[in-house]
Amino acid sequence: MIVSKFGGSSVASSEQFKKVKSIIMSDERRKIIVTSASGKESPNDNKITDLLYLVHAHLQYSVSFKELFSTIANRFIKIQNDLNLKTNIQIDLEEIEMGLTKRCPIDDLVSRGEYLTGILLADYLGYKFVDAKDILWFNYDGSIDFDKTEMMVKNAINKYEKIVVPGFYGSMPDGNIHVMKRGGSDITGSILARVCNAEVYENWTDVSGILMADPRIIENPKQIEKITYSELRELSYMGANVLHEDAIYPVKDSNIPILILNTNDPSFKGTMICDKIINDESKNMITGIAGKKDFTVITMYRHNASNEIGLLRKALEVFEKYKISVEHVPSGIDNFSIVVSTKSVERFLYEIVSQLKQVTGSENVQVTNNLSLLAIVGRNMAKHVGVSGQLFKTLGDYEINIRMIAQGSDEINIIVGVENEDFEKAIHVLYNSFA
Ligand code: ASP
Repeated sequence: MIVSKFGGSSVASSEQFKKVKSIIMSDERRKIIVTSASGKESPNDNKITDLLYLVHAHLQYSVSFKELFSTIANRFIKIQNDLNLKTNIQIDLEEIEMGLTKRCPIDDLVSRGEYLTGILLADYLGYKFVDAKDILWFNYDGSIDFDKTEMMVKNAINKYEKIVVPGFYGSMPDGNIHVMKRGGSDITGSILARVCNAEVYENWTDVSGILMADPRIIENPKQIEKITYSELRELSYMGANVLHEDAIYPVKDSNIPILILNTNDPSFKGTMICDKIINDESKNMITGIAGKKDFTVITMYRHNASNEIGLLRKALEVFEKYKISVEHVPSGIDNFSIVVSTKSVERFLYEIVSQLKQVTGSENVQVTNNLSLLAIVGRNMAKHVGVSGQLFKTLGDYEINIRMIAQGSDEINIIVGVENEDFEKAIHVLYNSFA
């Protein structure tokens, strides 16, 4: 059995619905379909989920939402009419509109995008619509109740054989609707693939698989054919986003491969994500390059810092107190630095520096901004001599100063920090050198 998840742009219009249907009908094994809410048809268009969040904001400020709601309603009505569907989506829309009050829980409201899209898609495919609130269950801490979910999904599949499930939400133990993080339909697909032990989890989107580098920086980057879960984790963490990073865990544990495919170009092979790549034919030293701008480095100078037990802990506790996630901690003999994203720290910087001075006893705490972090990631780098040499030589040849270096102990990534203004250039020269 295959679980196929379709992203917002794949279900943005009746034309996209037609593509989705022909994909699903071309393989009998596609029995569980997960859908996002209808997304953007063109770059200037709006995602239904964004509009629903906006409706909620209107409600909170007691501003009329009528016009906005009819924009949403018209999108669904148009799809229904274009495809001549039996379902009368107007009834659902009226019911939702009637329930809109200031007290309307935000999760209930924003989940309606997936709900309505799912109803239309199920009708169009001739599949049974199964509401995620009946089969996908959370624990109160927000984690997934896999046992209950598995039982419910298996019941639904046994009963109906082919189902459409809206992504992005499920139920809390008390039955209230709970939505996941934005982009959460990827996670729904992954959970369903795991609980019914799918042979593959297909994730249909609007790009041809995962690319070796950001196409906004590198023109026509090569496509990655196969990538391991761990490599993808590293790339996603460093800014490459094709799949929600939390979508990896559920299938990773059961070793179910994920295929990233393009609804607009279904014959394209896409990218396969799996645990181990058997008969790995890739000779490329690196699988991908990614990076993020705008980090801040806070450096504490103190004689013999490296020998002082507990010093680092005291400094890190300050960041913990402000709930700031620490990216890296490069250290020397008489100093150590803490690298954090500028956005997370800027509001409290003054307080943090003063507290760091107090707890570490360092009079000299320096702050530098405008750091970019970029990572080269590749399973073939492990135990291979000369990769970091090539990285440093390339950056050196192009006069890019490296401000920080870090390598994960499993050797599948090397991270370097460069000035923000060198970021794009660094990605270019590394891509040309390694890809
Ligand atoms: N519709 C939700 C969002 O826009 C979830 C998803 O599409 O995966 O974030």
